[in-house]
Amino acid sequence: TDTAASRPIAVLPDILISQIAAGEVIERPASAIKELLENALDAGATQIEIRIEEGGLRRLQIIDNGRGIAREQLPLALTRHATSKIASLADLERVTSLGFRGEALASMAAVSRLTLASRPASAEHGWKVDVQPGREAPPAEPAAVPPGTVIEVIDLFSATPARRKFLKSPTTEAAYCLDVIRRIALSHPDVQFVVHQDGKEIRRWPATTPRQRIETLVGDGGAGGNRLLPVSAQAGPLTLEGLLGTPDAARARSDRQYLFVNGRFVRDRMLAQAIRQAYRDRLHGERYPVFALFLTIDPTLVDANVHPAKTEVRFRDPAAVRHLVFHAVENALGTALPRPGQGSAS
Ligand code: ADP
Ligand code: MG
Repeated sequence: TDTAASRPIAVLPDILISQIAAGEVIERPASAIKELLENALDAGATQIEIRIEEGGLRRLQIIDNGRGIAREQLPLALTRHATSKIASLADLERVTSLGFRGEALASMAAVSRLTLASRPASAEHGWKVDVQPGREAPPAEPAAVPPGTVIEVIDLFSATPARRKFLKSPTTEAAYCLDVIRRIALSHPDVQFVVHQDGKEIRRWPATTPRQRIETLVGDGGAGGNRLLPVSAQAGPLTLEGLLGTPDAARARSDRQYLFVNGRFVRDRMLAQAIRQAYRDRLHGERYPVFALFLTIDPTLVDANVHPAKTEVRFRDPAAVRHLVFHAVENALGTALPRPGQGSAS
C-alpha cells in the first residue's frame, strides 16, 4: 500500500522545500513587508513606497530607489540561500545588514505570485521577472522602471491555503503591516516612507531627524514631544540612545515600546522588565511606558541568528546590557522629574 510510512526515503523537490520553509520566514503579509523593507534598506534606499491591498493578501508592492539588481542577478535574487550579504561564517559573525539568509524572496515566490523589476542606476533600463507560485523563474524581460527595485507580491499564500486560513481579517492584517512599517521607519529616520492602503495614501513620513521621527511615531498616541525625555548612555562596547515618555505619557497597552539592537527591532523580555523597573513607583497600576531606544553593540557580542524573523537576539553578556539600560532609563527619568514625595527640585 502507498501509506506514508511505507514510502521510500526521497529528497524533496526544491520548490516543496521552499514552500515548507516559507511558513517560517513568511508568516503573514506583515512578515513579507518586513523582509521587503529590509531588502530596500540593505540596498541603500532613501525613498520607499509601500502599497497594501486587502490587508496585503491581495497585493503588496514595495518601490525603492536603492542600488537595484543587475539583469543577470535577478534569477539569483529569487534563489533559496543565495545572498549578496555574507559569504562566510566570519561575515555572519559581524553581519550588519538586516538580511543575510537569502530566503525571503525565494519563500515569497514559493507561496505567491511575485514580480521583481529592477534597475541599477548605471543601467539604461530595467529588467523584470514574473514568477508564478512555486514555478521556476522565466527569463527576464525589459521593463521601464526608474533606478531601484519594484517588488510585487500577489495573492500571498494562494498556493498554501492552510496558512491562509490562519490569517485574520484584512483590516487586522493591514494593521500588522503598519506596525512593521512603523518600527522600520523609527530606526531609519533618514529614509522617506509613503504608505498606500487600498489605493489611498495613509502615511507620509519625509526623511527627518531621529528625534522628529520618534516624536511623530511614538508621540502620536498621546505622548507629545515635550513628554519625551532623551536617553544617552555608554559603557564599554555598548551605547544607548533614544527617547522615553514621562510617566504621564504611559499607556494602557505596551504598543509603543520600541527597542532596537544595532538598528533591528527586537523583543526582549529582560530589557522590557529592566525599563519598567526603572520607572517603578512612577507608574500607577497597569500602565506601560512608551519608548524608542536604540542599543548599539559590537556585532560579535550579540547573535541575531536565533530565529528567521530575527526579532530575538542573544547577548554575550546580558547582565551588562541590563545594567546599562536600567541605569540610563533611571537617569533620564531622575534628572527630569523629582521622585514622588521629594517635592520640586527648584
Ligand atoms: P537576503 O536579504 O537575506 O540576502 P533575500 O531573499 O531577501 O535574501 O534577497 C536576496 C538578494 O536579492 C539579496 O541578497 C540582494 O542582493 C537582492 N535584493 C533583494 N531585494 C533587493 C532590493 N530591494 N534592492 C536590491 N537588491 C535586492
Ligand atoms: Mg532579505
